Amino acid sequence: MLSLIGNTPLLAIDVRVDGAPATVYAKAEQFNLTGSIKDRMALHMLRRAYERGELEPGAPIIEATSGNTGISFAAIGRALGHPVTIFMPDWMSRERIDLIRGFGARIRLVSHEQGGFVGSISLAEVAAADLLETASRAGAVFLPRQFSNVDNIESHVVSTGPEIWWQLQAGFVIPDAFVAGVGTGGTIMGVGRYLRGKRPDIRLHPVEAASAPVLSSGRRGGEHRIQGISDEFVPSIVDLSFLDAPLAVHDGDAILMAQKLATELGLGVGISSGANFLAALQVVRELGPQVVVATVFADDNKKYLSTDLVHDEQAGDDYISPSVELLGFRSQRRDCHTCCDPVLCGTEPPPDFAPDEEPLPVCVRPRHARPRHRRSAEGR
Ligand code: PMP
Repeated sequence: MLSLIGNTPLLAIDVRVDGAPATVYAKAEQFNLTGSIKDRMALHMLRRAYERGELEPGAPIIEATSGNTGISFAAIGRALGHPVTIFMPDWMSRERIDLIRGFGARIRLVSHEQGGFVGSISLAEVAAADLLETASRAGAVFLPRQFSNVDNIESHVVSTGPEIWWQLQAGFVIPDAFVAGVGTGGTIMGVGRYLRGKRPDIRLHPVEAASAPVLSSGRRGGEHRIQGISDEFVPSIVDLSFLDAPLAVHDGDAILMAQKLATELGLGVGISSGANFLAALQVVRELGPQVVVATVFADDNKKYLSTDLVHDEQAGDDYISPSVELLGFRSQRRDCHTCCDPVLCGTEPPPDFAPDEEPLPVCVRPRHARPRHRRSAEGR
């Protein structure tokens, strides 16, 4: 399972925006085990919980989620032998519900009247507390608490962040900015923490839905169609003082952008990926076309076949997607610094194994080339 989570390709997508050519780098997270970035977090949290004795073999896992986390915990949790129960708002896509059930988890849908997202979290807490009381010992039930558990951030510090950095190094570029939509905030905080360690002046922009700007305004509420981000509150693991200004994206614009990536480049991504791509282009517009901006494509389009992603969408006056010309993309190679566990990589073959006598082909990329630091128009 480990080799099916993380180490995803990094796409270098060439665009023309306002007539100028630019490149946006996007981590293709749809290539994870269950098709989203949340596999990284679920695997890492379970691993840590085992290490700390917070989760016993076979104990139930209970979590509140807008979908992808539920799918990840359902698949990974069930594979490790745990019963899994997921609390989720009832307005999330049909595909999310069916996938969670399909992986063998129980699902409890929570309506607006029952509290929606916040209600899902408190209902999960109550369910876990009941089970704990009956069992009366730690480890008998595990509540990952993705919105407040710093292991969520850590999963991106140890995997997504280094992968992005080293894959960009392999392409001889250094990032000027990283942008990511905030659901739990694990991605922006974790990748951000790693990249800032490498480049202290990197810009880190959280992304939110324009109609539900909880990060920039603190105001709760506001409906939108970018499933997975802008979940009604600012999660406690998000430290806004560590981040640069939030970038807002219209949900219709995100839908049009995701549609464009699919119809013109064959990149079938979800709505939040469209939002992240548009936020990256906002940075390009601000800092100039040579700026190096990285982001993530959090999941693919298959979970949105019952949503507006597959319907005609009217462009608004201030939408960015109509002015974006997609020119093509390259997939940056995966990098040896992050491609495997060094201990496993170094495993000796059994004595009776007969390896292919043809030697490994020589790598075509010379090691001695020095990374080039591309600077933005402002010379950051
Ligand atoms: N996009 C999608 C589709 C998601 O499911 C999530 C996770 N809720 C995000 C973006 C945001 O990721 P994070 O929770 O790390 O902020």
